[in-house]
Amino acid sequence: MNAELRQRLVAVHEQIAAAAEAAGRNPNEIQLIAVSKTHPAEVIAAAVAAGVTDLGENRVQEAHQKISALQSLHPKPRWHLIGHLQRNKAKLAVELFDLIHSVDSVRLAETLDRHARERDRRLPVLLQVNVSGEESKEGFWVPGGIANSVAYSSFLREIEAILALPTLEVRGLMTIAPIVARADEARPYFAALRQLRDDLARRYPQINWRELSMGMSDDLSAAIAEGATMVRIGRAIFGERQIG
Ligand SMILES: *Cc1c(COP(=O)(O)O)cnc(C)c1O
Repeated sequence: MNAELRQRLVAVHEQIAAAAEAAGRNPNEIQLIAVSKTHPAEVIAAAVAAGVTDLGENRVQEAHQKISALQSLHPKPRWHLIGHLQRNKAKLAVELFDLIHSVDSVRLAETLDRHARERDRRLPVLLQVNVSGEESKEGFWVPGGIANSVAYSSFLREIEAILALPTLEVRGLMTIAPIVARADEARPYFAALRQLRDDLARRYPQINWRELSMGMSDDLSAAIAEGATMVRIGRAIFGERQIG
């Protein structure tokens, strides 16, 4: 199994490098996050031994068990929360994760800020945006996008409330593209996230809006073509999910 995992990891790194080259980008600007949800701690340990530095989990309880079981891993991986976070799990999330990609409301941001203050830490976060408007997706949604000035200014007020929270360190945006037949069809959604990021960076230049967390196993090349700095890859590294 470890040999297969290594092969898959090499193939993913090659795909990232090829997509970066095609886009005239430096592949070192793109952080691979290996999404280990549903896979057991032993498999994660093998991935770290194969060179994985960043791991993504979508559920706090599941991540808690694995992070506890993997305390002694060397080198220590960084843990990313990529799934929806309920406010009653925010305290534990602040203890466990290095970067939370899924901040999707002002209330959640305020709760995270309170817990980060108690722990006397700064908390790096990304703001999740629902660029497609699909009801099944979490995240801030601006119907009509930047062009809809009424909806957009109310979105900007929410963003300003989050930027005012003292412990939260906003580093960029995250999105999940809709499932499409051909990866290319996802490009407009990734482009929309980048345009939104560029607009926020113009309005709030005091914040470093560098990160664009977008792209999964089936659409990573399209995301890199549109400027992804973090890709979240599960199945292409670990194979099909174990449960759920
Ligand atoms: C599961 C998941 C991924 C990884 O998806 P794959 O298709 O397995 O690469 C990426 N991002 C989020 C938010 C996920 O929940």
